[in-house]
Amino acid sequence: MRCYPCDRYPLPLPEGHRFPIEKYARLRLRLEEQAAAGADLQLIEPHAATPDELRRVHCSDYLGRVFAGRLSEVEVRRIGFPWSEQLVERSLRSTGAAVDAAVAAVEDGMAASLAGGTHHAGADWGEGFCVFNDTAVAAREVQAQGLAERVLIIDLDVHQGNGTAAIFADDSSVFTMSMHGARNFPLRKVSSSLDVPLEDGTGDEEYLQLLEPAVDESFTRARPDLVLYIAGADPYEGDRLGRLRLSRAGLLARDRLVLTAAKEQGVPLAIVCGGGYCEDIDAIAEIHTATMLEAARLTSLCRSRLTR
Ligand SMILES: [Zn+2]
Repeated sequence: MRCYPCDRYPLPLPEGHRFPIEKYARLRLRLEEQAAAGADLQLIEPHAATPDELRRVHCSDYLGRVFAGRLSEVEVRRIGFPWSEQLVERSLRSTGAAVDAAVAAVEDGMAASLAGGTHHAGADWGEGFCVFNDTAVAAREVQAQGLAERVLIIDLDVHQGNGTAAIFADDSSVFTMSMHGARNFPLRKVSSSLDVPLEDGTGDEEYLQLLEPAVDESFTRARPDLVLYIAGADPYEGDRLGRLRLSRAGLLARDRLVLTAAKEQGVPLAIVCGGGYCEDIDAIAEIHTATMLEAARLTSLCRSRLTR
């Protein structure tokens, strides 16, 4: 399975910043070890998203301000990262990683960006550590290339996918599903095609019981040619911002449910990481590693069946 890491495009953050940027390098390291031990994973540097790709989703005015470092103080605060040239490059690469993963998924069945899930960014705003909306750009790019007509975005980051919902509010070719903490950030939610709000403290059993029919309904209503899956690590019980109580086994069961649904329906699926704010950074890296290994396992299963 092709995976696109972004950790070689560093993001300088002030001392004590609450974003655990280190998680991406640790994820890459784990996957390199797994690949060396025989797992079906190829790590490939992503391209930087192009202006043409970005303009299919974002307003030129906003893009111009991001590139030139002319965002207002309020806009920078809303993003939560200080502006720098590296922030722009990093955001371009993580958006490019989602595009590359989506195209690779159409060819191979499954693929992954080892970053991204930047679902709070809207057409003309950045928010909550998101500058550009990676899955939105990827969806529009595969459509523009004629690789998929209908796209389903399954957003299982613990926070609501407000930016994605706003971008596709009037576009019936992209179905947005978000399962998230009802009382968590963002305060003001934007209606997705299907929203599944959760109470604080929701655990494995209840989560999976709600997820299964929501995934079924999403596939039925979306009739997708491609699924983009935001596999957030922040519903984890150890997360500082998540407020849910999913165990690692519960998160893996969640991944299996989504990945298997796509496989059974014969729909290609690209994964992006989404959030993860656990104090224990290795725990975040391990959650994402488990997701990627499960996807790689399912992909090679498909391939071995095809070649038999
Ligand atoms: Zn999140």
